[in-house]
Amino acid sequence: MNRAAPGEEKVLRLTGVRRAYKEGKRDLVVLDGAELALSAGEMVALVAPSGTGKSTLLHLAGLLERPDKGEIYVDGTATNTMSDNRRTALRRHHIGFVYQFHHLLPEFSALENLMLPQMIAGLSRKLARERARELLDYMRIGNRAGHRPAELSGGEQQRVAIARAVANSPRLLLADEPTGNLDPATSSHVFSTLETLVRETGLAALIATHNHDLARRMDRSVTLDNGQVVAYYP
Ligand code: ADP
Ligand code: MG
Repeated sequence: MNRAAPGEEKVLRLTGVRRAYKEGKRDLVVLDGAELALSAGEMVALVAPSGTGKSTLLHLAGLLERPDKGEIYVDGTATNTMSDNRRTALRRHHIGFVYQFHHLLPEFSALENLMLPQMIAGLSRKLARERARELLDYMRIGNRAGHRPAELSGGEQQRVAIARAVANSPRLLLADEPTGNLDPATSSHVFSTLETLVRETGLAALIATHNHDLARRMDRSVTLDNGQVVAYYP
């Protein structure tokens, strides 16, 4: 395994990442030489206009796609040449993902939506249920445990989605405009819960947002400029 020296190990590190999409005969180059590193406990905002590559960057960091060039290290381990199975295992145990739309399974209750990823990762039904209950209480939606996603408000759905993302105690949380569908007050509340969770667990978090108030509450902000990640001062 290609591990970095102790002390300098980052939870996430992107080096020289390039990603292009085929657009007819031409390449649409979205990321070109993107560099980014996140330490444990660090909360970083990704603020950039639509279409600049935020989702692409998050999908690459989440090992949902592979870069054309460059390397993505998770906890110091290079991921490019890993098999799909190993990438899936790494994702399952180390990375949590939150989308703009909750992506919860509609036929299952909030509690079951939190139990499933844990059971897929090998936990018993009993332990998965206990942790799911704890997490829902932590997110202050314990009273909604038996409800299906359609019976929850937008803010509640996102709380469940966040709880699900951290159900397997990942080291890295990636969120793609997690409060983008919510009204400002709900957005602020949901973000506060997310913030507390990240601070208390020492997660590294990369959160795409268009909301400058939320970005200012994070440790630093980055943006995308011609396919590169650069510091941003909202
Ligand atoms: P953002 O999340 O910042 O809005 P995206 O990463 O979704 O940006 O998209 C960046 C650019 O890449 C856009 O021009 C988009 O149309 C294009 N793109 C994204 N995904 C694909 C894909 N699977 N195939 C082709 N083009 C894509
Ligand atoms: Mg996007």
